[in-house]
Amino acid sequence: MTFTYDAEKNFLDNKTILITGASDGIGKACAKAYAAYGATVVLLGRNQQKLETVFDEIDGLHPGKVVIHPLDFKTASMADFKILAESLNEQFECLDGLIHNAALLGARTPIEFYPEQDWADLMQVNVNAVFQLTQSLIPALNRSESAQILFISSSVGRVGRAFWGAYAVSKFALEGLMQTLAEELENTTSIRVNSLNPGGTRTNMRRDAYPAENPETQPTAESLMPVYLYLMSSDAQGIHGQALNVRDFEAV
Ligand code: NDP
Repeated sequence: MTFTYDAEKNFLDNKTILITGASDGIGKACAKAYAAYGATVVLLGRNQQKLETVFDEIDGLHPGKVVIHPLDFKTASMADFKILAESLNEQFECLDGLIHNAALLGARTPIEFYPEQDWADLMQVNVNAVFQLTQSLIPALNRSESAQILFISSSVGRVGRAFWGAYAVSKFALEGLMQTLAEELENTTSIRVNSLNPGGTRTNMRRDAYPAENPETQPTAESLMPVYLYLMSSDAQGIHGQALNVRDFEAV
């Protein structure tokens, strides 16, 4: 069954939401969905040209509601994340949402033969950059009346699976980061922290992971958006510290 969420028009008015990996796939769908409901969206990604294309699409429909910030997580340092945080502080009073969506899939190779440099690069993008961005933005999130941090996970980050290598391990790390941070912020802030497994979705990453699969068998990124919208809403206020699955919402 498809999950529907009857979001009120413009329920994200006056909200600022940062989405990483917003140049394509689920992140791009997410940016467009949040902007459609009134949010100002900050798009992070490594490819300026692709980000500009998404910028044009959103700005054409919702003028003045989109900002881009090109940043390659593979090479970004803590200083780059601090500069980003300062720039956001100058533009916005606070940050209401942080969607950690960017990720690399990496090699599908047994651990025994996993290339060391690929491992390090993937951990940099999928884990270290996520920590650095989170740490840099907690003060801005804390200034929101009700903020949400969403770590985009995967089923292989909940139960290990052969040949998923650094990708699976990086998603386990995000689950650990989510749980640790959720407990730390629970009594001192109103920031909600959760992880969300989108499940198989028709994107470039899915195509790379399952090259022989017919993409039409997988749901589109756009079809997941009711869950992403719901989680940003006040209806999801009580959800904190949980490892969520899009498919669980659909099963209800
Ligand atoms: P895509 O590969 O389509 O998109 C990934 C996004 O991350 C792109 O915008 C990409 O940029 C960006 N990105 C990759 N590397 C970097 C980097 N070094 N610095 C900054 N940005 C980077 O993937 P999906 O949309 O499928 O995946 C989105 C999330 O969902 C990921 O966290 C993924 O692990 C998770 N997921 C996806 C599933 C699926 O079936 N699709 C299943 C389970 C989880 P660019 O456009 O330049 O490539």
